[in-house]
Amino acid sequence: MSNIRMTGSFQWMKTLNKSTILNTIRLHSPISRAEIAKKTKLTPPTVTNIVAELIEANLVRESEIGVSKGGRKPILLTINDQDSFIVGVDVGGHLIRTIVTDINAKILTKFEIALPMELTIETFIEKLIQAIDAAINKSKAPKDKILGIGVGMHGIVDYEKGVSIFAPNFQLTNIPIKSCLEKHFQITTFVENDVRAFALGETWYGNGQGTEHLICINIGVGIGAGIILNSELFHGNNGIAGEFGHMIVDINGEKCSCGSYGCLQTVAGGSALRERALKEIKGGRQSLIYDRAQGQIERIDGAFIFNCAKSGDELALEILAETGTYIGIGVLNLINVINPARIIVGGGVAKAGEFVLEPLRKIVKQRALTSGARETEIIHSKLGDDATVIGAVTLVLKDLFSPRVNGE
Ligand SMILES: [Zn+2]
Repeated sequence: MSNIRMTGSFQWMKTLNKSTILNTIRLHSPISRAEIAKKTKLTPPTVTNIVAELIEANLVRESEIGVSKGGRKPILLTINDQDSFIVGVDVGGHLIRTIVTDINAKILTKFEIALPMELTIETFIEKLIQAIDAAINKSKAPKDKILGIGVGMHGIVDYEKGVSIFAPNFQLTNIPIKSCLEKHFQITTFVENDVRAFALGETWYGNGQGTEHLICINIGVGIGAGIILNSELFHGNNGIAGEFGHMIVDINGEKCSCGSYGCLQTVAGGSALRERALKEIKGGRQSLIYDRAQGQIERIDGAFIFNCAKSGDELALEILAETGTYIGIGVLNLINVINPARIIVGGGVAKAGEFVLEPLRKIVKQRALTSGARETEIIHSKLGDDATVIGAVTLVLKDLFSPRVNGE
């Protein structure tokens, strides 16, 4: 029994009753066996047997003695957060960020590795393995106690197969991330699009908690959205649900990286901000953006322009307000189609904070379809830079804790 998780698979966990009981303990800890039986409607002997197995597997432990309502005081159960670890990975355009967490998604170790400009599938997988290895070594977590690896990957991802279909920043297609990592580490691996991982992370551990219908928007170099409907990630038929950056906002607009014209990304993504700043500066406009960049135009991104705006630079303020308005139009369209209760904004451009969010909220307040829709909450990500890595960890935890039918 002690080797229960050595296979790196939750095969053993995959029964409805086990995950139901484990999730009940997670949500209501500390809790007694009798209360679990009451909440899950399972018989007390079933609860006792399964709890014994969960304790044996070091996923649950007996913690304290509860208050007695007459008779023997019940022993309370909690999730054992000392003996299981999860690896979360965020693969961006230039950087791999890796974390190791406990079973409550509490970060124990962080590790980052820069990516070279030119990558092949082989060199990318090598770097990915190197980053994960380094994080595991740094955390000193024994490999046989790692429950799973979650990867948030930019671009188009087939989450069922764990394959990166297209990674635009690397110009690579069909990277078999799941199978390569499982072969190397012998640990179950989940792969999801980075923005969808971010949405899942916010839903479980961030500002999305308790919200059934939610949209998380990432505004960085690209613009994407993770859509949560009925508390579940929505993938769509071909896994492109949420490709919000390619919503067309100007039919006569600039060419987009996707081949179409006038996508939201062409007017509100990180490089659009930079282009607009450079155009104005070339036209003779004075701005801190030019002074501070010192000729290194690649440094100009959302956060950079935000810093200039904070110093009162007029051009920076103008660019951010315009960006907020454009994103607001996109968000308004999303609200009218999906009608979420809340929208959470994260990513590089979102770091420009209220300079972008204010004009964005204004558009929604003025133009959404109903008074209810006009009141849609639009707030910042709680997890910030960690949103995607925590989301990647959540991919593993979701599999562990989510009750499933027929042990499929
Ligand atoms: Zn596009």
